[in-house]
Amino acid sequence: MKKVVILGAGFAGLHIFYKIRHLIGKKIDITVIDSRSHSLLKPSLPEVSFVGAPISHSLIELKHTLESRGATFIQDEVVNINAKNNLLTLKNGTDVNYDYIFITVGAVKDYDAIKGFREFGYSVCDDTQAQRLWKKVQEFEGGKIVTGAAKSTWGNRVKAPDLKAPCEGPIGEIMFMFDYYLTKEKSLKREKDYKINVFTPGEIFFEDVGDNPRNAVGKIMQERKINLHNNKILTEIGKDFIAFEDGTKMECDLAIIIPPYSAPKVLVDSNLGDKKGFIPTDTQMRHLDFKNVFAAGDITALAQPKLGHIAIIQGAIAAAVFMQELGEDVTIPAYEPEIFCIMNMGGHDATLISSDVLYHGTKDKAFHSPLAKMMKWGFDNYLYYNKGHMPPDFALEATDKLVKLL
Ligand SMILES: Cc1cc2nc3c(=O)[nH]c(=O)nc-3n(C[C@H](O)[C@H](O)[C@H](O)COP(=O)(O)OP(=O)(O)OC[C@H]3O[C@@H](n4cnc5c(N)ncnc54)[C@H](O)[C@@H]3O)c2cc1C
Repeated sequence: MKKVVILGAGFAGLHIFYKIRHLIGKKIDITVIDSRSHSLLKPSLPEVSFVGAPISHSLIELKHTLESRGATFIQDEVVNINAKNNLLTLKNGTDVNYDYIFITVGAVKDYDAIKGFREFGYSVCDDTQAQRLWKKVQEFEGGKIVTGAAKSTWGNRVKAPDLKAPCEGPIGEIMFMFDYYLTKEKSLKREKDYKINVFTPGEIFFEDVGDNPRNAVGKIMQERKINLHNNKILTEIGKDFIAFEDGTKMECDLAIIIPPYSAPKVLVDSNLGDKKGFIPTDTQMRHLDFKNVFAAGDITALAQPKLGHIAIIQGAIAAAVFMQELGEDVTIPAYEPEIFCIMNMGGHDATLISSDVLYHGTKDKAFHSPLAKMMKWGFDNYLYYNKGHMPPDFALEATDKLVKLL
C-alpha cells in the first residue's frame, strides 16, 4: 500500500483526491493535510463582497468530507518538507512520512507587501477580506474607487508566460459588480456620485487573453465610464490616495486590491521552489528534482495565470500520471492550458471568457449574456453541494461544445 499525502485541500488538492480515491484500500492510503478546517471556494467570494452572500456558501468542511470518503484528514500547517527523506513536519512537531506527495498549497496573498494596505486597503481574496469588504461596500455613500492588481514576480526555471498580475479576472468582477451595486441598489449616479478607476501593472489589461475578450470588456468599461490606467505598479495605499512606482498618485476613497502572490514559506524553507518559491515541474506535473513529488495549481511555476481552471487541468494530469505509475489503465491528458472563466458582472450579467492565445492557440472568445451568469451559478453551486467535486467529464465536454457554438 503506497502512502500518499495531499498537501492543501483547495481546487487542485480536492480534484486530485476525487480522481484517485477509488484506489484507497486497494493500492493506496491517503492523508490530506490543510491548515484550514474548510476549503475556500474563491470564485464565489465576489458574491460575498458585493451581493452579501453568506460566507458559508463558499466553504467546504474538510474532515467529514474526506474521512467519510476513506482519507485521513489532518488540520495543521506543514512547516517543513524533507523531500530527500520523504518526510514532512507539522507545526505541532509531528512528522508524517509518505511515498508520494501532491503539493497543492496555492499561493500566499501577500497583503503586507503593500504599504498601508492593512490600514486603508480592501480586498476580496479570502474569507476575512471578502466579509470586511462587504461591510465597507454597504457603508459606502459615494466617492473615488480605485481597483487593480499589484505586480507579482516569478522565477524562471520553467518556461511559462511572465505575467505582471497573477490574474485580473477578479478585478473585472470587482469593477462591474460594485458598479451594479452602486447604481441599482444604492441609486447612485456614475461620475456624479462615484467614479471607478482601474489600474493594471501590465502594458495591457487582461494580458492573459487576446483582443476579443479584451475589446468586449473594454467596451463595457467605456459604457459604464470606468477608466483604465496601464503600467501602474502599486506601492502604497493612503487614507485618501493610492501611489504608484512611477511617482504618480490617484485620489482614492476606497482601494480594492489583488495583492502580490508569493509562495508559502514552507516551500522556500524546504528548497522545493524556484527562486521565488514556486514549484518547478514538467508538464506531467512532476517536480523537476524529485520523482515522487507532484504539484498542481497556483503553487506551480507553470500555472500562469493563477486560475482555478488551470489548477484543475494540472490536478487531472498529476493524478493520471500517478495512477499510471501504480499500474492503472488510464490516459494521461495532454498539457493544454487555457483561460476559461466566467466573470460575474452583477445582476443577471456575466461574461464567459475562453482563450488560449497566451499559449499560442487560436481560441479567443468572450460571451456576454445572462446564460453565462446561469453557467457560473450552476458551476459554483455544483462545487459547493458536491463538496469540491468537479462536474462530471460529460458535463464539462458539453460546456466545451457549447462554447464552440457561441
Ligand atoms: C477573488 C477570486 C476569484 C477567483 N475566481 C476564479 C474563477 O472565477 N475561476 C477560476 O478558475 N479561478 C478563479 N480564481 C482563482 C482560483 O481561486 C485559484 O486559482 C485556485 O483556488 C487555486 O487552487 P489551488 O488548489 O492551487 O490553491 P488554493 O485553492 O488556494 O488551496 C490551497 C490550500 O492549501 C492550504 N495550505 C497552504 N499552505 C499550507 C501549509 N503550509 N500547510 C497546510 N495547508 C496549507 C490552504 O489552506 C488552502 O486550503 C479566483 C481567485 C480569487 C482570489
